[in-house]
Amino acid sequence: MSLAGLPPLREALAAHGLTARKSLGQHFLLDLNVTRKIARLAEVGPGDVVIEVGPGPGGLTRGLLATGARVVAIEKDARFGPLLEELGAAAEGRLRLIIGDALEADEAALAGGSGHVVANLPYNVGTPLLIKWLTGAWTPLSLTLMFQSEVAERITASPGGSAYGRLGVIVQATAEARWVMEVPARAFTPPPKVDSAVVRLTPRADRPSPLRLQALQQVTAAAFGQRRKMLRASLRTLGGEPLARAAGLDPQARAETVEVAGFLRLADAWLAGRERLRPAPQ
Ligand code: SAM
Repeated sequence: MSLAGLPPLREALAAHGLTARKSLGQHFLLDLNVTRKIARLAEVGPGDVVIEVGPGPGGLTRGLLATGARVVAIEKDARFGPLLEELGAAAEGRLRLIIGDALEADEAALAGGSGHVVANLPYNVGTPLLIKWLTGAWTPLSLTLMFQSEVAERITASPGGSAYGRLGVIVQATAEARWVMEVPARAFTPPPKVDSAVVRLTPRADRPSPLRLQALQQVTAAAFGQRRKMLRASLRTLGGEPLARAAGLDPQARAETVEVAGFLRLADAWLAGRERLRPAPQ
């Protein structure tokens, strides 16, 4: 059977006696027009390798396979194995299915080198997976990811608003992030409580080093931990007013007004200060 000859997703789910499990964040996209659109937004095609997390019944997987890409799909819920194997047979060897937890996956080995990530992410693991892909050892070529709208807002937020915080700073320091599509709750089966959105991320060639990222985690944790306070107070344990000044920032500013570049300077100034304080080797 070819991809085009596969039964509609609702029929495939019914034929396998499958229903959604809340504990695994299962909200399915069963409208193939929507999944094809997300696959188009991913800008992948023949010759590309895509890692998809949480294929579930395989709606998005069908969209991705239709582009000609090869897909490595990681699904935690083994119940979907037989249904996805049928999809694999229709895709003539372009789908590899891994039953397991994406948080523990070795993407470099699975992709056999470079690859893209596309996923309608389970809500409970979306943010840890994003941080893994943007700050870990393996860097995807691009990421096209569905999140709850509120998370998508935080990822793409600019300074000045309440959505701007640690997540946005760390994501935007490592990748260019664009909000590309809204998906209303009613598009999912069963519908979640909130709307969703697709975000497209392109990792930066000049990603900060692991040491710099660690420092960025530290300074953003302190600054946004007390986001209503001025930097001179919220950064008190890390160096307070002198640290803010060393980074070229106004010590009276609040975290939510500081640009990503400002936080990177703060991370650098904190690292430089630690170097100065370190005792000289004997
Ligand atoms: N991609 C499908 C779609 O769009 O219809 C399903 C999306 S559903 C929101 C999330 C999927 O991720 C579920 O199939 C769930 O079983 C799977 N999942 C949840 N946690 C996971 C994990 N840690 N690793 C891999 N898959 C996971």
